[in-house]
Amino acid sequence: MGDRRAHTYNFNAGPSALPTEVLEEVKEHLVDFQGHGLSIMEMSHRGKVYEDVHDRAISDLRELMQISDEHEVLFLQGGASLQFAMIPMNFLAKDQQAGFLLTGSWSEKAEEEARRFGKTRIAASAKEGNYQRIPNPGEIVYDAADAYLHVTSNNTIYGTQWATLPEGNGTPLVADMSSDILSRQVDVSKFAMIYAGAQKNLGPSGVTVVIAKKDFLARADRDVPTMLRYETHVKSRSLYNTPPTFGIYVLSLVLQWAKRQGSVDALARNNAEKAALIYDVIDRSEGFYRGHAAQDSRSLMNITFRLPTPELEKAFVARSVQEGFLGLAGHRSVGGCRASTYNAVPRAASVALCDLMRDFAQKNG
Ligand SMILES: *Cc1c(COP(=O)(O)O)cnc(C)c1O
Repeated sequence: MGDRRAHTYNFNAGPSALPTEVLEEVKEHLVDFQGHGLSIMEMSHRGKVYEDVHDRAISDLRELMQISDEHEVLFLQGGASLQFAMIPMNFLAKDQQAGFLLTGSWSEKAEEEARRFGKTRIAASAKEGNYQRIPNPGEIVYDAADAYLHVTSNNTIYGTQWATLPEGNGTPLVADMSSDILSRQVDVSKFAMIYAGAQKNLGPSGVTVVIAKKDFLARADRDVPTMLRYETHVKSRSLYNTPPTFGIYVLSLVLQWAKRQGSVDALARNNAEKAALIYDVIDRSEGFYRGHAAQDSRSLMNITFRLPTPELEKAFVARSVQEGFLGLAGHRSVGGCRASTYNAVPRAASVALCDLMRDFAQKNG
């Protein structure tokens, strides 16, 4: 028991790997949290013990991402998918328009959902060519009439990522960072809103992190149900109703772990190395492995690649499972393989995957 984890390489796309240290800590405190005689799950969210955990999570995220007082930090529920609706509910009136940068399935979903509330406009799209690339800054068509411009910073399914995030050019910039938040430093001051489901880089599923600029929040429509108004959660410090206390607790431990790694820059360096190892195997495989993403659009979080035939892809995934690799089958809409190398995936997992890929290519090439 437990030993199997040491021989498992978790490349799941989400929910995904959590640091083993964090899980050990959860285990240690699970039944009797800090000597209080009960689990954190069994405590009131109105008590000091939980509130300290909650507030520390907020302040640690502020510290790690260098979030100033211009922005609020919220812990919501409903995943990134609810944000697809909640953002236009609050910020897009029926006669207004919002711009969307289409770089994959998640940005498509965000745009479709916004269309239920107001008008949408495609400011740039990479749909042609099956989302293999990220648009150049020059391709983005700005429109001062946009209530906001929506971008997906990392495309989890296609394995592309904005190497440099786009500018808003005066339009409030809203970013879905579900699959690369905290994987590299971003200048939060440039964003009207950043949101992310926690289950890729931040913790377990069930918590959604929202970082929103106060002056943008001031523009929100007041005629929205209480739970779907950002204002409700700002006023109550995300304690309007019962928050997902256990998820926020684990998230807080992940943030403390991230701080122990040094800084977001240290995490970013490690992520760049982990991804480079795998891309290097792809590039040196003489075409046996073919990356889905164009070179300049490659994601450092989700590495998507194909093998020469679907049969070889099946055989590769089958062998990987036998050898303790999890999550390498690609998303059903893209096929092929995908390795998700989020913050908590250790470098040793990348090294092991490279060995497997090289050996499989040698035997089957
Ligand atoms: C996973 C993911 C989502 C969906 O997140 P949920 O929390 O499951 O709703 C949205 N956007 C991106 C970029 C994702 O990776």
